[in-house]
Parts: sequence; C-alpha cells; structure tokens
Amino acid sequence: NGMDSKMPSYPGLDRWQLLDLLGTGAFSHVYRASDREGKMGEVAIKVMKKYEMKEPHKANLQKEIQIMRQLDHNNISRLIDVIETNQYCHIVLELCTGGELFNQLVKLTYLSEDLSRHVILQVAQAVLYLHQTGIVHRDIKPENILFNSIPVEPSKTPKPTLPGEENKVDEGDFVPGVGGGGIGEVKLADFGLSKIIAGAPTATPCGTMSYAAPEIVRDEKYTTGVDMWALGCVLYTLLAGYPPFYDPNTKVLMKKVSTGDYAFDSPWWNDISKDAKDIVSKLLTVESDKRLTIEEFINHPWIQKASKTTLETE
Ligand code: ADP
Ligand code: MG
Repeated sequence: NGMDSKMPSYPGLDRWQLLDLLGTGAFSHVYRASDREGKMGEVAIKVMKKYEMKEPHKANLQKEIQIMRQLDHNNISRLIDVIETNQYCHIVLELCTGGELFNQLVKLTYLSEDLSRHVILQVAQAVLYLHQTGIVHRDIKPENILFNSIPVEPSKTPKPTLPGEENKVDEGDFVPGVGGGGIGEVKLADFGLSKIIAGAPTATPCGTMSYAAPEIVRDEKYTTGVDMWALGCVLYTLLAGYPPFYDPNTKVLMKKVSTGDYAFDSPWWNDISKDAKDIVSKLLTVESDKRLTIEEFINHPWIQKASKTTLETE
C-alpha cells in the first residue's frame, strides 16, 4: 500500500511494517512499526547500518545490545528483539509514543517544579538501577529521554535566546494546558555509549558537550558521576528552558563546563525554589567526588518534599 512504498524495506524485517520515522542518529534510523503477525502492539525499530560502521562503532553496537539484553526496568525502553543481517542490525524496542523530552521542552518552554520533579525522578530511577548494576549511561540528555504519553502544561515566560541561535524561530505552537492529565511515563533510551564499568574508571571522550561532565571535557578518567552531572544539566534545562552551559564555540563551551561556569540567571530563576537550586548546584559540582550520588539525589529534600504526596497517588 501507499504507506509501504514510502518506507524503505530491509531484508529480515518481514514481520514488521515500518510506519514512520521517529528519529535519526549517526548510524541509525528509528522507525515506528506494527506487527504483521498481529501478536504485538506497535514497536520502535532502530535500524543500524553495519556496512557504514568502522570497527570501534561495530563494537559499540555489540556492547549496546549486550547491555540492553540485561536490562529490565520500567524507566528504560525495553529490548524486544534483535535481528541481524550482513548489512544491518535491527533493534526492536518498546515504543515510547510521546517522543523526546527535547521536543516537549521546545513546545513547553520550561516545566513547573512539580512536572520537572515528575520527569527527573523517573530518569533517576533508571539511573539508580543502572548504577546499582554497574552501568554508566554516559549520554543522558533530552534527546535520549523519551515519553510514553505527551506531558502538557501551559508555557510561561519565554526562554532566553541562546547566543548563536538568534535566528531560530520561536515557534508559537505552545501546547495548551489540558486539565491535569497527560503526564506520562518517562523512559531512558540510547545505550550506544553506555558501558559496564564494574568499578573501573573509563576515559573515552563521548556524548554531547553541552551535557558532558568536566572530567569528560578534560579527558580524565570518569565514572558514574558523569551521569549525575548530566542529570543536573537536564534538570536545569527542565526548570529554566535552556541549558546551563552553552556556547556556539566548542572551545568556549568546554572552558565553561570544565570550570563549572553557569548561573541561575534572572529573571528565569527568580521564582524557582531554594531547594531546586540547591539540588541543581550539588549536581553541577566540578569535583566529581563532591557531586551527589544517585542515592543522595533521590533523598534530597527537593525530591522528597513532594514525592510523599506525588508518589503515593501515582
Ligand atoms: P542514536 O544512538 O542514533 O542517538 P537513539 O537510540 O537515541 O539513537 O535513537 C534516536 C532517536 O530515535 C531518539 O532520540 C528518539 O527520537 C527515537 N527513538 C529511539 N528509541 C525510541 C523508542 N523506543 N520509542 C520512540 N522513539 C525512539
Ligand atoms: Mg540518541
């Protein structure tokens, strides 16, 4: 049919009908797909081009699969199947219907403290599980945080324009508030860069610089702390609507990150609570051994304050 003809077809993927493109990465296209056998609901399929990959990337792919096979957590997009052919590797994943946190942020400008907590706590549950399993994700950022349904909330003060992005359209399609509902499950995705550490610090620079920890930027050995830094960057972004570290010039950006040069700028942070600023600043701490661990993060008053009421009603 018409839909079929617009979508590429891949050998070995006969069971799955590709419906639309959900996202693209360096070596992957991710599609929404339905089960021709009708045994399962819709899924996400990450199609990886093995033939374009050099050896280290192929090794990364095998690592991603190996890690995902072991994982079993509600806040981590589940691996359903892996189909490998000579040229491709198809990773069949649990579908997250609400899309990326990144896109929600663009629409909503920024989130309330309650909604930010709702989102970050679910990411934190995934991180707690990973760190307790001895895995560092290494690429926590809004593009890799997915939703199972769309969070909706009216937008407030417009976010500031980032240097170098003055010409970006400030889209007017803010999502209108829809009576309380619509805030769904949050899932961590993309294990392409994660690594089983089992105690050993690692030193491979990777990830996106805006959310990369100082020790990554400085090319030092690093461990679970890099996820905590990234969690701080994500939480800052949720609350403010823009990231803590940003510069179009990578060198300048790296300098800012490695010295922890960020601020709670006025007016965007004026109405944000002291507890929220405290938890963010304890994550965005340059010295990794002074940063909150995932357990300390979950026990911080800003998380605990509302979790008593919020968690029980969920
Ligand atoms: P890459 O390693 O190329 O970044 P990702 O695993 O992050 O690949 O997938 C790329 C994009 O595809 C994501 O940012 C997201 O938009 C989409 N995507 C990935 N997995 C899913 C999923 N399970 N459900 C819905 N969308 C997904
Ligand atoms: Mg990704």
